[in-house]
Amino acid sequence: MVERLVWDQEVAGSNPVAPILFFIRMQPRPPGFLTMVRGFLRASTRESAAILRGDPEMPPAEIDRRYAICRSNVCGQYMVLDDRCAACGCNVPKKIAWRTASCPDGHWPAISPPDASLP
Ligand code: SF4
Repeated sequence: MVERLVWDQEVAGSNPVAPILFFIRMQPRPPGFLTMVRGFLRASTRESAAILRGDPEMPPAEIDRRYAICRSNVCGQYMVLDDRCAACGCNVPKKIAWRTASCPDGHWPAISPPDASLP
């Protein structure tokens, strides 16, 4: 209903870029900056630990599979304009390539479970 009201307000005017503005406005919003920084530090610590453990690298087919899931926007969190996940704020092409990363919405798991002793 809110989308309909915003659409009506945007399109009711004669602004030729109204559909573009509407599309941008309807994009999901990422979390706050500090939340994203904390998530990145946590994820990079886990991935670094997996590299040091010698865990196997990500198979390219699994990267493609994850990317297809994200881009399908099954979660409603995929930000198509900047290729980002609104659930965690991560850059999707980078996130899907990390073996210890998993979808915060449960759509794909980590192939290498993170070390339980890490935060
Ligand atoms: S990581 Fe999960 S929540 Fe984020 S865009 Fe991909 S499927 Fe959606």
